[in-house]
Amino acid sequence: MTAQGPDATYFAHLAKGDWRIQKCRGCGEHVFQPRVMCPSCGAEAFDWVAPSGKAEVHSTTVVRRRAEQGGDYNVALIDLAEGVRIMSRVEGVDPSDVTIGMAVTARLAEQDGETIVVFDPAGKGTQ
Ligand SMILES: [Zn+2]
Repeated sequence: MTAQGPDATYFAHLAKGDWRIQKCRGCGEHVFQPRVMCPSCGAEAFDWVAPSGKAEVHSTTVVRRRAEQGGDYNVALIDLAEGVRIMSRVEGVDPSDVTIGMAVTARLAEQDGETIVVFDPAGKGTQ
């Protein structure tokens, strides 16, 4: 797989354990997936900023998998506080207990040698 342009920048940051998304210099909107041009205003200049990690589950699906293959897992669309939506999963809770609107917090994890962004239920014991 060869990533180019803004995708390459996104994954280069992640590979260093540094999760960043684009913020448009034209209108100030956050942008994800990485883009060459802002979908809101058409500007082509972005800053790469670290998201707060605060987010909410927009939709959730349980993917059934046999126990010897790791068991069921969760696939979710997550709305970041920054106003962008990413596909990920919620960990640290039974896949079927993930609910729409659940507050979650981002965390970086390793999978197959790559750094990915996953989410945990927010406020466990701290909120
Ligand atoms: Zn813009």
